[in-house]
Amino acid sequence: MKSPNGPAENRLYLGVDIGGTKMQASLVRESGEILCREKIATPRAGGPEQVVPAIEKVIADAIKKGGVKTDDLAAIGIAVPGVVDPDRGLVVVAPNMRLTGVSLGAHLKARFKTPIAIGNDGNFGALGECWLGSARKAESALYICVGTGIGSGLVMKGKLWRGDRESAGEIGHLVMQIDGPKCGCGSSGCLEALASRTAIERDIRQGVAAGRQSAITELAGGDLGVIRSGAVRKALEMQDELVGEIVRRASQVLGYACVNVRHLIDPEAIVLGGGVIEACSDYIVPIIENIVGQDPLTGARDGGKILLSALGDDAVALGAVAAARHLVGRNPFKKRFRVKPQYPEITRYARGEITIGRKTYDRDIYIPVNGKVKNRKRGAEADESGAARAIGPKELEKVCRGGPGVLFIGAGENAALELTDDARRFLAQRSIKLDLAPTAKAVENYNKSKARKAILVHVTC
Ligand SMILES: [Zn+2]
Repeated sequence: MKSPNGPAENRLYLGVDIGGTKMQASLVRESGEILCREKIATPRAGGPEQVVPAIEKVIADAIKKGGVKTDDLAAIGIAVPGVVDPDRGLVVVAPNMRLTGVSLGAHLKARFKTPIAIGNDGNFGALGECWLGSARKAESALYICVGTGIGSGLVMKGKLWRGDRESAGEIGHLVMQIDGPKCGCGSSGCLEALASRTAIERDIRQGVAAGRQSAITELAGGDLGVIRSGAVRKALEMQDELVGEIVRRASQVLGYACVNVRHLIDPEAIVLGGGVIEACSDYIVPIIENIVGQDPLTGARDGGKILLSALGDDAVALGAVAAARHLVGRNPFKKRFRVKPQYPEITRYARGEITIGRKTYDRDIYIPVNGKVKNRKRGAEADESGAARAIGPKELEKVCRGGPGVLFIGAGENAALELTDDARRFLAQRSIKLDLAPTAKAVENYNKSKARKAILVHVTC
């Protein structure tokens, strides 16, 4: 590996996402490709003396896993769930993290001898989506992450809107219901208290306690203490009345929060992400779109798109890398610091065979944005829709990991592969352009394209 002062495409960064349940550190190239990820559980008990060593460990583990040395890093970005002072590297308040008052920046800088950029996780998620994700072409975007809580961030022309006291973009604490349920922040009726996973869980528990029939008790393994987004999704699939009602209500509140945001700042894109959205987007997003679409004030004109996170779990860590790059004078939003990702060339295609670099494959493959060739799962095409050779959204989740700008699909000699309607919607909701063509043509287009790209190739017929 090259030193941090080597050619730009070889510079390395770490993006660290410190969450309430897990911490993730990703080793990332200057161009934004993730080389490896390391995850550990966030210590549940104890204070900073437990949490800080865990942060150090996940950083050290990611460096080791990537086969590099600390010296190889140009900078590290750290996302914290709370209010931070980036200039002083200080965690001002972290309600769920026991990091309040910790000078995390100075501490980690001394420990790893590398510049450290610290920021709020919602803000970094927004930066990530604007740099490489769904909002990469938007002048202004608001990112909303619906998970245990509701975080968000606002980016305008490549710059975070941090606010006077570093607390801008806290959409989770917009008051959506006067005298509503108590929120973790101490206020009442906040968006987070009405539409986060925690709020959905609370309402489900209350419904069950009041004697409502629901499949959720069984789906959650008999314990309603923690109800995962996956269990909520299964209940929705089963058309469970109680869960359906609660999720519909939460979606409506989210929809009106988006309307409020549009009336205040009218961003070009609102990007939705987080565990609840990932698991239940096909139930939640149409409700939000419907409410936003009916808004009489701005409804008459196009624009103000509702998008889904293209980076998923990686949005925050990649935003942390964007901030780390900014800190060392290489702001990725400045044209002169843009670095193109490197891709392997597809050197030969003949019916039944494809050669990439020096390796030949005799079966379907795909190359996600990180440029690593992967085998397409056999039978993947028949899994979802039942119709053979149709590509569904589940397969695209893998192929489009990392947020390509363009997805090339080599559909076989007679263009036998097709996308389901859901798959086409998957791409549109993440601002991913589709270039589907007979394989030979798709390969040619892929090789020529200078975009951040991915390809799926049907080789066998
Ligand atoms: Zn609140």
